[in-house]
Amino acid sequence: MKKFIAAMSVSALAVTAAYAGVTEEDLANDQASTDQVVTNGMGRHLQRYSPLETLNKDNVKNLVPAWAFSLGGEKQRGQETQPLVYDGVMYITGSYSRLYAIDVNTGEELWQYDARLPEGILPCCDVINRGAAIYGDNIYFGTLDARIVALDLKTGDVVWRDKIADYKAGYSYTAAPLIVDGLVVTGNSGGEFGIVGEVQARNAETGEIVWTRPMIEGHMGTLNGQESTMTGTLNATWPGDLWKTGGGATWLGGSYDIDTDTLIFGAGNPAPWNSWLRGAGEPTEGNVGDNLYAASRVGIDPKTGDIKWHFQTTPREGWDYDGVNEVVAYTDRGGNKRYATADRNGYFYVLNREDGAFVSAAPFVKDITWANGIDETGRPIFNEPNRPGNPANATDGNKGEVVFSSPSFLGGKNWMPMAFSQKTGNFYVPSNEWGMDIWNEPVTYKKGAAYLGSGFTIKPNYEDHIGSLKAIDPDTGKWVWEYKNDAPLWGGVMTTAGGLVFFGTPEGKFIALDDATGEELWSFQTGSGIVGQPITWEMEGEQYVSVVSGWGGAVPLWGGEVAKKVNYLNQGGTVWTFKLPKQLASN
Ligand code: CA
Repeated sequence: MKKFIAAMSVSALAVTAAYAGVTEEDLANDQASTDQVVTNGMGRHLQRYSPLETLNKDNVKNLVPAWAFSLGGEKQRGQETQPLVYDGVMYITGSYSRLYAIDVNTGEELWQYDARLPEGILPCCDVINRGAAIYGDNIYFGTLDARIVALDLKTGDVVWRDKIADYKAGYSYTAAPLIVDGLVVTGNSGGEFGIVGEVQARNAETGEIVWTRPMIEGHMGTLNGQESTMTGTLNATWPGDLWKTGGGATWLGGSYDIDTDTLIFGAGNPAPWNSWLRGAGEPTEGNVGDNLYAASRVGIDPKTGDIKWHFQTTPREGWDYDGVNEVVAYTDRGGNKRYATADRNGYFYVLNREDGAFVSAAPFVKDITWANGIDETGRPIFNEPNRPGNPANATDGNKGEVVFSSPSFLGGKNWMPMAFSQKTGNFYVPSNEWGMDIWNEPVTYKKGAAYLGSGFTIKPNYEDHIGSLKAIDPDTGKWVWEYKNDAPLWGGVMTTAGGLVFFGTPEGKFIALDDATGEELWSFQTGSGIVGQPITWEMEGEQYVSVVSGWGGAVPLWGGEVAKKVNYLNQGGTVWTFKLPKQLASN
């Protein structure tokens, strides 16, 4: 928008009339517009790639702090957000559903919004938030009581506020909303409570619901207040009434492929975790037990909310391998338009962008036990003995056979986003090498109560590292290099045309690697664990990099033996902003 105004040589009145804040064009051009970051993912394809090369392999050693901002208060815990930068202001969300506007030049606070959360919210995996979205003069973010809020960019005043779902039933909200053609598109969280995953689209100006799309077969979608189409075919892949509490939470939000005009959302585990209860226990007819569209990626028409295609990564899922991980649209070295996604189940998939069809899959972690590979249709070749046992066959009827499965339920990769370099053609994937003892137990659905039917203990697979950042060639599935880290990685990755890969560790280090070799070129100790998502932009000819530091997230809560390994880490809550001063840029 700034460039547009500067180009106009008309009266100030006309400029005011033309000002529309962040436009659809701004969102579409976010990657190329290096003076602002107005989308989660640094572009709605979620490449997290900047064409900036001012900061590069030679001069990154001169990157220095410009300012730091504390989120303050006693509310710390995990800070998983990605900052946005627009019109001289940085916007960040914080733990406990807070949002801050910060002067991007000085680091001073302009305003803060603190959602008043009710008693009894049920976030499964820490009180985190993963970012906001900007459109027009508003900024949007979701809150832990499953609401979406629109705030005035300049003042932080509430413009509108709406309920996504009932927090008392276990719903919550943590993802960055996605804006496409004037619609605010959101998912939901709560897959461990027997909720039903859904995607909702609202008019960004008014908050009015335009369409809804449930992710579990049998549920009806809506369009303009009327029933539209059923998701899938009732009881095609789910037995009985289990689809009514079938999970498939869309908790990581989605991406947008402008070339095919498609929203891509992932759906989490089917509920409950115990797969033997979902029709996959006995020899079945057809694909009953696959439990669509849980553990799947789904392509959605942004105008109607109708499903265009789906790809299920883990049919009859039974290890909590949520299918939510981000789907990144990119062009491969051969000029083919592809999607890539690194699944919780340990496989890195490449799909066709026209129809979501399977192209290839390769492991991105070392010790996958649950499958022996992926067949030519994209379906896993199950290693049957590695399925947690059926409690109905247990002598006491309570605890099925315990198996050691890898990756652990927190995944070969969890929510933390990977990055794609248009320069190298490789993906930079934050992964973890860990497994778990897992077993099944009987369970019945109860509103607002955990609905798992499983127990588990996570264990490291290696003595010297769990975290593993890998450069992966998507054309071959081969690993180009690996950077090992003691603690599990839980933050996002960013890469730049300057040849750098940025990420942070739970031990507090913010690191820049050489994109070709994985060699560490620069690091800075931020004082608390990094589980946030870095960005970069330029101001007045200087390149800046920001990341939010603040340890937390699912690992310390659910990490079993791994949680013990990281319990010395300090909490925090600080935005760190670095810059390459002009006079040091050529060194
Ligand atoms: Ca899950």
